[in-house]
Amino acid sequence: MKPVIALVGRPNVGKSTLFNRCTKSRDAIVADYAGLTRDRHYGDGRLGKREFIVIDTGGFEPTAETGIIKEMAKQTRQAVAEADAVIFVVDVRAGLSAQDHDIARYLRTSGKKVLLAVNKAEGMRESPLLAEFYELGIGEPIPISSAHGQGIRSLLELALEGFEEDDEDEAQDEADRPIRLAVAGRPNVGKSTLINAWLGEERLVAFDMPGTTRDAISVPFERDGRKFELIDTAGLRRKGKVFEAIEKFSVVKTLQAIADANVVLLLIDATQGVSDQDAHIAGYILESGRAVVIAINKWDAIDSYQRQMLERSIEARLSFLKFAPLVHISALKRQGLGPLWKALADAHASAFKKLTTPVLTRLIHEAVEHQTPKRVGAFRPKLRYAHQGGMNPPIVVIHGNSLDHVSDVYKRYLEGRIRAHYGLTGTPMRIEMRSSD
Ligand code: GDP
Ligand code: GDP
Repeated sequence: MKPVIALVGRPNVGKSTLFNRCTKSRDAIVADYAGLTRDRHYGDGRLGKREFIVIDTGGFEPTAETGIIKEMAKQTRQAVAEADAVIFVVDVRAGLSAQDHDIARYLRTSGKKVLLAVNKAEGMRESPLLAEFYELGIGEPIPISSAHGQGIRSLLELALEGFEEDDEDEAQDEADRPIRLAVAGRPNVGKSTLINAWLGEERLVAFDMPGTTRDAISVPFERDGRKFELIDTAGLRRKGKVFEAIEKFSVVKTLQAIADANVVLLLIDATQGVSDQDAHIAGYILESGRAVVIAINKWDAIDSYQRQMLERSIEARLSFLKFAPLVHISALKRQGLGPLWKALADAHASAFKKLTTPVLTRLIHEAVEHQTPKRVGAFRPKLRYAHQGGMNPPIVVIHGNSLDHVSDVYKRYLEGRIRAHYGLTGTPMRIEMRSSD
């Protein structure tokens, strides 16, 4: 499970600036996809090879009558409860305030690991002003500058200390391993109906893992000789052999399930259309790099006109998941489940496809012959060879000269040709450029 860091503090201390810094590299990857709705409060962060989830609790404006503690209780309590570590952000230029004391008091009773980040401290690492913040009783004030990127790395290292993930042995024999599947979707979309339909099917052997409790992490099962592992899905509870829906929707649980999966099934409710929440979840999936299949559930419940409208709105709102196959199902009537299984298995196979250096190299040479990358000033990018840099998602690393000048449009052109050659479906792909000059 990815560790979760919550950023807490009164308005204007620089939480969202810090948030943007934690999530920046990821943002850059997906920034230019049309239609992607971003939820600026939840993001994926990375420190070296380590990944984490960061929550910005910012944006709340305390009013006279509610007071900051009430607002915090509403906006922040859940984030703190779900976090492994809390970064309490204060502002060295504004100095200590009564609100800071209130927040500190609340955090001290939370039982969470709390770090005290003193922001806007560019050029003030040794300043006596820092000492004032010991008063909060949170521990040593850590000077940072979110705007200038100072002190962030060591702050995050401290926050992540003790939450190291076990290095999972990398996916050499991934084809034989179970497909780790997460089912994502908002409440009432039909998650538990679908899962129970699956687990209830005759050909599908579900079994309990020895020694697991009611809150099992995952349910292994087989279908047509293919092993699956259903990851503990947000918003569901196991009751014996049956899943049932629970009221609360947790973004963090959804993010963790996505991070833990190889393939994510995104369920959309045909009777509701694509909501903002659906678009947010879709955005998380895209950022995660996981393979994805979109299933429109409750297809039985809408007429042909509504079906047309729905397909159009999905094309428009989830255009950034164009690579994901779209299947129509009725979990209730158990319709469309065959094609759904096939789509999931294909997406998994695509995500773990082995792309060899000679074939990739031939593909990029052919692509260049067909259409050369644009010259930029004195530079003409030269693509020499390519190798596979990773799986799930497939990463293609292209080596050559002046590659910094290759446009995003051209990268997408290359991606299209590689996809077409290998028949990749249901997985995002990344192209990285390594210039030797
Ligand atoms: P939030 O309300 O806590 O999310 O705060 P913001 O991230 O919106 O920042 C509030 C203001 O502080 C903005 O004008 C930022 O540009 C500024 N700010 C944020 N971080 C720093 C910093 O490290 N140094 C300085 N000097 N200003 C900063
Ligand atoms: P969850 O909150 O995502 O687990 O959703 P549930 O599985 O509890 O389903 C919510 C409601 O939608 C229930 O009343 C289901 O009977 C209904 N439902 C689920 N799948 C379908 C379907 O394919 N067609 C129709 N018409 N209703 C469905």
